[in-house]
Amino acid sequence: MKIRIESLKDGANRWTETIEPLELDLDISTYSQPVNLELEADKRSGKIPVSVHVSTQGKYICDRCGEEFKREIGGDCRIIFIQRDNTFPGEVEGDDLRSFLSGQPELDITFDVRDALLLSVPLKLVCTDDCRGLCAGCGVNLNSEACRCEKQADL
Ligand SMILES: [Zn+2]
Ligand SMILES: [Zn+2]
Repeated sequence: MKIRIESLKDGANRWTETIEPLELDLDISTYSQPVNLELEADKRSGKIPVSVHVSTQGKYICDRCGEEFKREIGGDCRIIFIQRDNTFPGEVEGDDLRSFLSGQPELDITFDVRDALLLSVPLKLVCTDDCRGLCAGCGVNLNSEACRCEKQADL
């Protein structure tokens, strides 16, 4: 995911883009849907702050019942690009403050956008807040079936 500096007008720019998950190097078994980006870039002399809201749909396995479910996720990132003759010492992808050199055609925000999206995935993934999960005794999915434990005890 790159922003062509030349295509930005001076001052505020706002636009949206839809990209394929592979462009962010996402695992396509989880992320198969297009990724939506809302971008803002403020082109000033020597400085381009960029803000991105990224969202898509992921396919996850519920931590409680083990069923597959889909969920919309979304996150934000902001990077300030400063025009310099050299990169900042120790500068790495994902830093909030980054350099760009004069004549550099593009700002690469792949890493930032990918990170913002993946960090927005909840640590605990459940299909619904009231998912009843699997019975510890008989193992049925309690969302769709009745527990069989009592019947087994009767036999
Ligand atoms: Zn569940
Ligand atoms: Zn049971």
